[in-house]
Amino acid sequence: MVLFNDALRQHRELWDIYTRKEEYTPRRLDQYGCFPHAASTCQNISEPAVSKFLVDNGFESTYPADKEFAVCLTHDVDEIYPPFKHGLLSSLTCMKKRDYSGLKEQVFWKLYGKQKSPYRNFREIMDLEEHYGACSSFYFLATGSDITRFRYNIEDLEEDLGQISDRGWEVGLHGGYYAFNDPEEILGEKKRLEKVLGRKVSGNRNHYLRFQVPDSWEFLKKAGFRYDTTLGYNERVGFRNGMCHPFRPYNLNTDREIKILEIPLAIMDDTLFESTTSCEEAWQLSKKLIDTVAEYHGVICLNWHSESFHCPFKDQREILYKKILHYCSGKKAWMTSGEKICEWWEKQESVPE
Ligand SMILES: [Zn+2]
Repeated sequence: MVLFNDALRQHRELWDIYTRKEEYTPRRLDQYGCFPHAASTCQNISEPAVSKFLVDNGFESTYPADKEFAVCLTHDVDEIYPPFKHGLLSSLTCMKKRDYSGLKEQVFWKLYGKQKSPYRNFREIMDLEEHYGACSSFYFLATGSDITRFRYNIEDLEEDLGQISDRGWEVGLHGGYYAFNDPEEILGEKKRLEKVLGRKVSGNRNHYLRFQVPDSWEFLKKAGFRYDTTLGYNERVGFRNGMCHPFRPYNLNTDREIKILEIPLAIMDDTLFESTTSCEEAWQLSKKLIDTVAEYHGVICLNWHSESFHCPFKDQREILYKKILHYCSGKKAWMTSGEKICEWWEKQESVPE
């Protein structure tokens, strides 16, 4: 990609979008300190303008088994124990549908112990993905500090992490709310997760997509992460820096590439459902983005929170996820985890031109 930086740099407008120059001195931030799409001078993010330029100028990406493009499947694990509001909404949904076994599960799980929480659904998610020949990444919180409430102790999930990792799925870090601009906190959370997992972790996505360009990339690199996948907007799906390919971020302050891979986030479930008015509209929008990424032989990264599965009041999200897996498997996509994409990308980079 270094070779392509020179060509891109000549195109001032695209270079600024690619490097996220406007985020170095943001005009405004939202309530969580995130740079909002509304504050960007680049409003059209449904087309990957930078990837298009690179492909038009000879940039090629290939995938294992001659797959045409890749889908990076990821799950932020925000909740393990349904908060009161979730339990209530799910119970009401079950009652409406006369789903009494579902209702029992929502109301009485606490009686049978924490293991029975309906959000401890990793095996079901992996089974679903396996059915489509896919695998994915689960990003876990490893901190006791959060803006809203206590979430969970990662130490209580040792068995779940072992099962995920043993099946070949990825366990990565969901960087805590206060970690994105605190290098020591990031390193501490990474080490805490690695201690429970018993192996190194490669990937990260920050909670609430909190991110400070370019410092967050530098801190993550310093903590030993090989890749990050935070760069997407909370309120819009699409391509935040015009890229639908993984890339090495460029630091305009040091005038150097940062040795970490960014796999930009294109579709997050919450964002998709909050910015559309029906499941059909959400599907059409997803399909359009998938088709676009396939056209440029890129990587489309999805974030479906683990609580979107096995959750009666969010059942449309699980239905749409299955539809996407079905569609992408029909288009012969490589559907895999962030870690596997990162490994592949690193291997391609080491091949002499
Ligand atoms: Zn989160």
